[in-house]
Amino acid sequence: MQVSPLLLVAALALAPLAACDDTTKTPATGGVTPPPSPEPGPPKADDAPADGGAEQPSSEPVPPSPDPAPQPPEPPAPSPASFDHAPAGAIPAGQGPGYLDRTVWSPKMCWPMMEAGFPNSQVYGPGGGMGPPGKPSQCDTLNYTLPWRDTFCEARSRANPLCAGSGNGHQGQDIRPATCKKNEHWAVAAEAGTITDIGTYTVTLVAKAAPHYTYRYLHMQMSTLAVKEGDNVAVGQKLGKVSNDFGGTPTTIHLHFELRAGVSGTTSDGKAVTLHTFLPPYLSLAEAYQRKLDGKACGAP
Ligand SMILES: [Zn+2]
Repeated sequence: MQVSPLLLVAALALAPLAACDDTTKTPATGGVTPPPSPEPGPPKADDAPADGGAEQPSSEPVPPSPDPAPQPPEPPAPSPASFDHAPAGAIPAGQGPGYLDRTVWSPKMCWPMMEAGFPNSQVYGPGGGMGPPGKPSQCDTLNYTLPWRDTFCEARSRANPLCAGSGNGHQGQDIRPATCKKNEHWAVAAEAGTITDIGTYTVTLVAKAAPHYTYRYLHMQMSTLAVKEGDNVAVGQKLGKVSNDFGGTPTTIHLHFELRAGVSGTTSDGKAVTLHTFLPPYLSLAEAYQRKLDGKACGAP
């Protein structure tokens, strides 16, 4: 369900933005280990994906024709490209509450990277602060392998009212770039809009079109950003290169991507959405990536 535009609020007035707290194992430098949930069980190596399989073109039998003229066979519809992504809200036991929401909040947004990416956990994946034993490298192929994983409401200390239980959890989606190489892969504007704020490791984009979603990008290489505050950007325009900038706190090479409400309303399960409520971006990202795979223009419906 979409946010009902009951209170159309100018989204340019940004509330103070909380920080992402993705961290990795480097306690010597004072990195904060994300709070483990009560029973931080080992991540499952590979959950079976529940969807994302290739669509099979149905080969309809040609009906017998009374006309003796031969009928050219119908060419089968091309099978659309597909990718494997685990269901929304599916977070392994012990890694946080997750949030099951089937709302595609931003159905027209652009995939926020120029190339492919791997949405999955920075904390519980190899090289993460709670990563599997014996896999210390963030460049482990497990991190650069499908399927996608939803990380909204993964265990964190940050306030997120949509997360069950404590009301704390991860406020966005973490996405590793196409390869484990920092300062190489571009993050791009998910919608046309204005760069309203650039922080120590954050870039905020407010969409021009209603309902004026706020997109926030974390951990790009801040010294080489392609935008500055006040810039109006086109959809798909380069913003910066995916890195691990986190104000001195260690983190892995990834883009933390947030989607925040531009209007008030309610979620499909009746929770209140106020201006700047963090919304789960996973399904919007999945649809945007599918459009990219299908060769549709960035931002196309
Ligand atoms: Zn994050």
